[in-house]
Amino acid sequence: MGQEESALKKVSDFYESKISHMWDIIANGHIHLGYWDDQNRDADFSGGTEKLTRLMIEKAEISSGQRFCDIGCGVGKPAIMLAGAKGCFVDGITISEYQQKEAGKRAEEEGVEDKTRFFTANALDLPFADDTYDGGWFFESIFHMGHHGALCEAHRVLKPGAVLVICDIVDIGIMTVEEKRLVKNLGAVYAKAEEYPDLLTGAGLDLIEISEITREVMGPFASKSAEAIRAHKSELLKIAPGELVSEFEKICERMSKTAGYVILKAKNRDK
Ligand code: SAH
Repeated sequence: MGQEESALKKVSDFYESKISHMWDIIANGHIHLGYWDDQNRDADFSGGTEKLTRLMIEKAEISSGQRFCDIGCGVGKPAIMLAGAKGCFVDGITISEYQQKEAGKRAEEEGVEDKTRFFTANALDLPFADDTYDGGWFFESIFHMGHHGALCEAHRVLKPGAVLVICDIVDIGIMTVEEKRLVKNLGAVYAKAEEYPDLLTGAGLDLIEISEITREVMGPFASKSAEAIRAHKSELLKIAPGELVSEFEKICERMSKTAGYVILKAKNRDK
């Protein structure tokens, strides 16, 4: 196995691990962090993760009948909600075959199988022609892929003028060496928010807007996830031993103190 292949295998193994399955349970299929502000302060963990999906859907500029690319789609929940909300066609890409199958199954259960397709593929080498999509997003996935390469590939498959939305965990200079090592072990590298304008320009896109939402995302994360782990304890214990459930809680707590979070929109340039 080449170096690149083994790095991809690491990411796919993570998204097929018990930790990811536990996340799926407490977040009801949204494999990302949550968002809490004054309007949903009391929402539980899955409510917060759903709210972040709704924010992404609000930002996505896509109409009924158009084609959208979800690059790093998890088990399909955001793609399913987007297709339902906007009536567009969504292609979801994941590096995990398990997630691809799971997403297809869930789309069928939600009655959007005619609007969604899921593929196991590498975001750096998408199996789609140039100028295929009217819109796209990286929903908490680009930090696994290498920002420059992933953005260049998005630029290629998106039509000129298409809007790309990104939610990303970012480096705000508070990570310890040990935390950096853990993140790198998951094939992840966090960019800094300030790097985004150049990252986008370098790949053929222009920044439209960027908001730092660390307070709304990372702030309540530790307590909301701990509450959810407690509430779902018996379900979690069916798929993982007690020590791993405790480890999961510690991972969430550590993550909440490790990094920042941004949401941004960019426009694809002519080629
Ligand atoms: N967007 C989803 C999942 C986020 S988790 C959600 O919000 O629910 C990160 C996702 O990125 C996983 O599905 C993982 O398989 C995918 N991913 C990471 N690296 C990838 C790569 N190189 N190619 C394709 N998908 C990748």
